Amino acid sequence: MHVARGNEAPQYTSIRITEKTIKLKYHMNHKPTGFNSTLVHGTGQKDPLGSVITPIYQTSTFAFKNADHGAACFAGESDGYIYTRIGNPTIRDLEKTIAALEHGFDGIGCSSGMGAVTTVYMAYLGAGKHILSHNAVYGPARGVIEGAFSKFGVESTYVDTTDLEQVEAAIRPNTALIYLETPANPTIGISDIPAICKIAHKHNIPVCVDNTFCSPYLQNPLDLGADIVVHSLTKFLNGHADIVGGIIVTKTEADYKKVRPLMVTMGCNMDPHQAFLTRRGLKTMGIRIDRAQENAVKVAEFLESHPKIDWIVYPGLKSHPQYELGRRLMRGPGAMMSFGLKGGLESGKKLMDSVQLCVLAVSLGGIETLIQHPASMTHSKLSASAKKEGGISDELVRLSIGIEEVADIIADLDQALAQIN
Ligand SMILES: *Cc1c(COP(=O)(O)O)cnc(C)c1O
Repeated sequence: MHVARGNEAPQYTSIRITEKTIKLKYHMNHKPTGFNSTLVHGTGQKDPLGSVITPIYQTSTFAFKNADHGAACFAGESDGYIYTRIGNPTIRDLEKTIAALEHGFDGIGCSSGMGAVTTVYMAYLGAGKHILSHNAVYGPARGVIEGAFSKFGVESTYVDTTDLEQVEAAIRPNTALIYLETPANPTIGISDIPAICKIAHKHNIPVCVDNTFCSPYLQNPLDLGADIVVHSLTKFLNGHADIVGGIIVTKTEADYKKVRPLMVTMGCNMDPHQAFLTRRGLKTMGIRIDRAQENAVKVAEFLESHPKIDWIVYPGLKSHPQYELGRRLMRGPGAMMSFGLKGGLESGKKLMDSVQLCVLAVSLGGIETLIQHPASMTHSKLSASAKKEGGISDELVRLSIGIEEVADIIADLDQALAQIN
């Protein structure tokens, strides 16, 4: 039922996303509204006592009306709630809202982004099956395959998925999942979701996309052909660096029914308070990303022209290797960038030790500007060869731009760069 975005090409020239460039489609029973209206009002879940905000149903279990009702809930003949690991109204509101934003069938809230990733792996992989993924994928998303799933006989190949030939060549008869992350972390490489889905579907292989770097505001992988989307809610969707959470959205009911029971039986569920905070953070995601992205464009231009910068990758700069592809897939270039300094790692360390406004911390997508060093931090567990293949060089510094005054962010980077000899 998905409609290709066609010639509604994203306009990087105007960084602010308009309601014209982002249309909502629903697979559920509600009226289509603009993206920001859905962020605020959700999918119309009404609280029985009239609370304007979906309350925190801080309960582990739910009373049945009578024995028959309890039996009907377990038989799936009533949509009453049973037990919070299985489902909870606060969590369901978040799941349905994000599913609408991603144009999917339904959402599955998880304890963390990694909870979402491993739940998808459990659903599609097994002994003798093979996963194909990007060599610059989020470190733990690769680490759990090589460190745990491999023990149960899961095979894996990591290639540069920005190169279609490498993807096609790595497909095996037992490939059961193609797992993409685009833009990837931390190289900001952009993979051609529609082209890869075409190749995958020729071989009946489902495609899952980690859409954390874009959020549904900037990219909708299900519309581009993917079958499953995962997010770390910890990042742009919650946006306030005060929770850890994850979600899976599937395009079809069949995939939803395949994945949801695993989240429940493995106990990867969210808790109601975490869902409440995420739902609150989500309301402002559009205006937060507008602002962060406007800032990011200016910071990227400042860094690109700075004499101490060796290279920079940001989807909003024409120098990005997949600049045109990014414009086709994404509505805006986002707020994530990576760069290398002349003088390599030593200069990068000096920069990270000299910033005062920017915070030296991992994670991303929050209201504050964060700076980090993937080779010694988020991707430190990868082998030297895996880092090399993935382009995670020692000098690479990653920036997640926040919503502060852009003049202050630039002034901070400027004074920190001045400390480098
Ligand atoms: C943070 C992150 C994850 C993992 O999410 P957690 O909420 O930390 O478990 C997965 N993918 C990407 C791209 C991330 O940035």
